[in-house]
Amino acid sequence: MNAPTLKALVGVGILTVFVAVGLSSRLSPRATAAPSAESRRTDPADARSGSTPSPNGDFVPAYLALHESGELAERARELWSMMESCNLCPRNCGVNRLAGAQGFCRAPGSDLVIASVQPHFGEERPLVGHGGSGTIFFSHCNLRCVFCQNYQISILGRGNRVSIEQLATAMLQLQAFGAHNINVVTPTHYTPHIVAAIDIAAGRGLRLPIVWNTSGWERVEVVRLLDGIVDIYLPDMKFASGEESGQFARSPSYPEKTKLAIVEMHRQVGVAHPNSEGIVNRGLMIRHLVMPDSASGSKEVLDWIAANLPTDTYINIMEQYSPHYEAFNHPRIARRITPEEYQQVVDHAHHLGLSNLDSRAARWLRE
Ligand code: SF4
Repeated sequence: MNAPTLKALVGVGILTVFVAVGLSSRLSPRATAAPSAESRRTDPADARSGSTPSPNGDFVPAYLALHESGELAERARELWSMMESCNLCPRNCGVNRLAGAQGFCRAPGSDLVIASVQPHFGEERPLVGHGGSGTIFFSHCNLRCVFCQNYQISILGRGNRVSIEQLATAMLQLQAFGAHNINVVTPTHYTPHIVAAIDIAAGRGLRLPIVWNTSGWERVEVVRLLDGIVDIYLPDMKFASGEESGQFARSPSYPEKTKLAIVEMHRQVGVAHPNSEGIVNRGLMIRHLVMPDSASGSKEVLDWIAANLPTDTYINIMEQYSPHYEAFNHPRIARRITPEEYQQVVDHAHHLGLSNLDSRAARWLRE
């Protein structure tokens, strides 16, 4: 799909924009195989013919060095092998996805399913700039919250099977469109595929930072394998308490695992600082969704951030909670939040000295 065509489709909405490379077809045999042992290091001819300049100027993404050394392909193979007894996420299902088995996330074996590819202008402003954030929404999810607003994609699995090559092509198309980054949304259960696709795309001229847009519920061992690949981590901190994460996302270990993962993410990329054009190319950006009746433990989440990370850590305190999917089966969370509930959380962040709130939250700051 060329850039004008893609542009014309922007605004049609999530679920509707697909790269025109046969996404409705089944994966080819090649696509279901493990990433090739043959290194896909930068081919100058490839780079000349297939790439377009990055809108981020001279920025050099972290993965380029690993691509050049062959380490990126090695990481992809290591991650791929983890699907034999899948432990890519804290669910530790142990199913053999390489033999076609499905675990809790319902990813279809080792096949890759994506729901949409689009420049997105509703993400955090430092990710959007003038060209948008190049979002790729992955189908299925390892967390499956009862209130998920994207449940058609994450729980019902809406999307199309694609090959790793097609995923790499989609990344390059987003760069050609002028997106500032490649924003992989709900990536965890497809980590091997994404790393393999980055390796291919890097050889063809991809130079955008990767945004790891995750629920936060990651195994720290897997996050360590992303060191030097991901430039921007965008994790949620959804719950402060295992009681609520168990009730609403069947993951009592969520707070414990997510805290470990976020500390590791910060170690790798540090604080997110925008460049002179207001664009963030590297760093940690945390999202927290305020829920009704303090169900997500907002104040405790902020307390933890203040105690364990720099006070200028970027935090997006989100107010858009709305009951979706099965939330109406849980009276406590079957409503929107009130302005007062949101204001109290922003005030608490201010009280803790957290100084780098997303601009939308910062508007609620009181003197
Ligand atoms: S990625 Fe899916 S199959 Fe693998 S451990 Fe997580 S939920 Fe289970």
